[in-house]
Amino acid sequence: MAHPTIVTLTGTGVPHPAPGRAGAGVLIRHGEVALQFDAGRGTVLRLSEAGCEPHALTAQFVTHVHSDHIIDLADVAMTRWIQQQLHPCGPLVVVAPEHTAARYVRRMFDVFDDDIATRTANVQPGPPEVELIEFTPTSHPEVVWISLDGEVTVEAVAVHHEPAEAVAYRVTTPTAVVVVSGDTVVCEEVERLSVGADLLVHEACRTTAFAELIAGTRLETVFSYHADTVPLGGLAERAGVEHLLLTHLIPPPADETDEAAFESDVRSGGYTGRVTIGRDLTEVVIDRSSVATTPSPEAEVDDHDWRAPYETVLDPGREAHLGIWRDEADDISRAFFTWDVPVLSRECEEAIATGTRTDVIGLDLTNITDLLIPGYLPLETGMARTPTGALSVAVLTQWPGTTPEMIDWWFGWHIAATERYKLWHPQAHSFTQPRYDLSGVADLTDRQRYIGNTSWVDEYIGFLPSRLAITFHEPADIGLGGDDLEVAGYGTVVCAVVTDSDHGHELSRLIHAVRRTEAGCEMRSRFIFGPEIPDLIGPLMLDHCWTEMTHLAGFLPELHARLA
Ligand SMILES: [Zn+2]
Ligand SMILES: [Zn+2]
Repeated sequence: MAHPTIVTLTGTGVPHPAPGRAGAGVLIRHGEVALQFDAGRGTVLRLSEAGCEPHALTAQFVTHVHSDHIIDLADVAMTRWIQQQLHPCGPLVVVAPEHTAARYVRRMFDVFDDDIATRTANVQPGPPEVELIEFTPTSHPEVVWISLDGEVTVEAVAVHHEPAEAVAYRVTTPTAVVVVSGDTVVCEEVERLSVGADLLVHEACRTTAFAELIAGTRLETVFSYHADTVPLGGLAERAGVEHLLLTHLIPPPADETDEAAFESDVRSGGYTGRVTIGRDLTEVVIDRSSVATTPSPEAEVDDHDWRAPYETVLDPGREAHLGIWRDEADDISRAFFTWDVPVLSRECEEAIATGTRTDVIGLDLTNITDLLIPGYLPLETGMARTPTGALSVAVLTQWPGTTPEMIDWWFGWHIAATERYKLWHPQAHSFTQPRYDLSGVADLTDRQRYIGNTSWVDEYIGFLPSRLAITFHEPADIGLGGDDLEVAGYGTVVCAVVTDSDHGHELSRLIHAVRRTEAGCEMRSRFIFGPEIPDLIGPLMLDHCWTEMTHLAGFLPELHARLA
């Protein structure tokens, strides 16, 4: 379902206080995703007034470390921490440029050490946690964060607020492109970043109007590293920005006449689009459905209307058990179910002992097409974090005597019944049900049976009992499509979004890319978890995946020969 994108100013002020203007901050929401940019004075209150308290934030971004942009960052993090008692939400993900900004984030709890010790001793289960995602700012935009469902992307670019190091961000959702300038002079980097944006939230300083008044004063220096409203109008016009929202207003307008002066500045600079002079809690709702991003897998399922008559309901009170009881057994389970699974390979043992690697970068959706490069990547079995902090688990398995077609057949066949699913990992799989039960529908391809369908599964991932919804989608949705795959030797790619079937929140993306080999085929699996998922999940996932795939590879050719 396409959600509107909602942009809310949590503060329009500057270091000098002005009534009604909190410190710098912009909140951008799309569905469940809530991103806060900067956290100046009063941010937590404004977030609360906007209906999005710190526990509901998906990630916090920092543009630079002038105090008016970060003075309440610790407040956001510590409020979230205290709110954990009522709203479990995990560490606060903070995305910040390296050097000064990242350094600030690392140290921001230091002066609260006594308070943290007291609270931890009393009620809090542990100290406040921040998951810092550090990046190197560049003069060309680079992706620094992607939501777990792949729908929301944030890019950053270095801007000019010297001597401070600062960045601007561009947020792309399925319904809007929004740019947040942070503090900067009018510059080419923001202009390029803003091309075609629905909304440009830009800092604004009436430099031209006040030039004479401030000449020779210290204010002249301050004005020199902020965005002059007149050339800003030209920038917004050239970039084709639909709507310009001014914030971080210098000088803070006291009334509508003052606000009108900001607008006439940008008009004199040539801007013809819509202008809003920001006030605290100004809200802009954008719903442009044509923004090109990865289609959501849910939307895709809805497209396949023909499946609707076969939709089933998952019983939340269902019972599940490992193994196949006597009255559940049929010829297939009698022939193919066996408790024993292959012993983990030495390569897997070593990868687990090594833990999450820091010498390699894990694949995520931004570089998943690296799978098309001939040969192997530095990480084929093991765990690493991606540049955005996501946990990426890689597993390579060998399938002698198996064809990619057999693997498509397996995915189309096994999702229909628990007894089939149990063959795959007898020590971990306890239940499955397809959202659309297509087992009675004739004349479908194997891929039609699983792509666009959801496989509800109950299983153990290591020691963790998990109730999951695995929604399969076309590999082309993540850039793995068409001739490229064929050329690279792939016979099929199985892609899915994995959510928690009880609560619906997304847990990971999975990709099983199946490449032909002389002996049959090999499967290059990737599981991409959000940054909030701890490292300990990595080895559990690796063990589970290697074991089930290697076990299945041992009997799939024979099973396929018997049934397909
Ligand atoms: Zn600044
Ligand atoms: Zn500032």
